[in-house]
Amino acid sequence: DRKRLQRLKTTAATTIDGSSITLLANIETPGDLEQVRANGASGIGLYRSEFLFLGRDDLPDEDEQYEAYKQVVEGMKGLPVTIRTVDLGRDKMPKWADEEAQSAPNPALGLTGVRLCLAEPILFRTQLRALLRAGAHGKLKLLVPMLASVSEVNQVLFHVEQAKESLREDGLPFGADVEVGGMIEVPGAALTITHFLERLDFVSIGTNDLIQYTLAVDRGDDSVSHLYDPFHPAVLHLIAHVIRSADRMGVPVSVCGEMAGDVRLTRLLLALGLRSFSMHPAQMLNVKQVILKSDLKRLSPLAEEISLAPDADRVRELLLSAGE
Ligand code: PEP
Ligand code: MG
Repeated sequence: DRKRLQRLKTTAATTIDGSSITLLANIETPGDLEQVRANGASGIGLYRSEFLFLGRDDLPDEDEQYEAYKQVVEGMKGLPVTIRTVDLGRDKMPKWADEEAQSAPNPALGLTGVRLCLAEPILFRTQLRALLRAGAHGKLKLLVPMLASVSEVNQVLFHVEQAKESLREDGLPFGADVEVGGMIEVPGAALTITHFLERLDFVSIGTNDLIQYTLAVDRGDDSVSHLYDPFHPAVLHLIAHVIRSADRMGVPVSVCGEMAGDVRLTRLLLALGLRSFSMHPAQMLNVKQVILKSDLKRLSPLAEEISLAPDADRVRELLLSAGE
């Protein structure tokens, strides 16, 4: 069966009615590239750069970061590479974080993601310079995690401009047209999505955190894992709202949380209008197999029914009765 799947590697991800779907890969280190290529990804949708910052006592300097990012950009040979700016805190607390950070009363609601970057401008500037320099070697895009308000987007864009200016002054080459996108994983950002779409080149929905924050369920707490439910209508409403708004405004949107690589959810996400999925490379061919057997025309009435479902069980029922 694995062999049959393997044959899909070079098959285009097209639905029965001829819509082409983009399948991207999530990676954590440049070493993951081999698996990405083995599964025929059409780009990297999420490179979690914080893994370069974890499990060590010091911070990676600009050159070390530049080398890592360049390796990925060059390794993808012209295909788009989306690198997320450091997303530390919460479940990813570095050894070198100070005591205050280590003992935050509620790390999931504390100094994390873009908040930490804006609070540590030297750390942020160093990474932005490394990323922009790597952008000179291929098609690189920046992705900013944990955005909650547009003022954070404005501040990030200001830092990006400043980083470009400093590279210009230093006479270092960089990608002048590197796109800046945002992760939509805080419900407040999803609800006010149009303002984010006005400022960003693309958005990517981080369903892992979006579920956690929408349902108030810690994604790492086993005692409530049965409540962590991607089928919950509140989660689906937010995802649908973001996709619809992005389509209306002509801004590219993808999903890069675990939902994108879960074959139980592929048709559901297609029904909600999703056309770009970013996932662990090991899931890509399985998801492609479902896409090849999906008919978008048949899926649209499903989206309407799902939008009226009172709970996750009803959503699952609807999917089952639709033969999914
Ligand atoms: C997410 O939250 O869905 C996501 C992709 O980011 P991470 O899992 O790294 O928080
Ligand atoms: Mg996240």
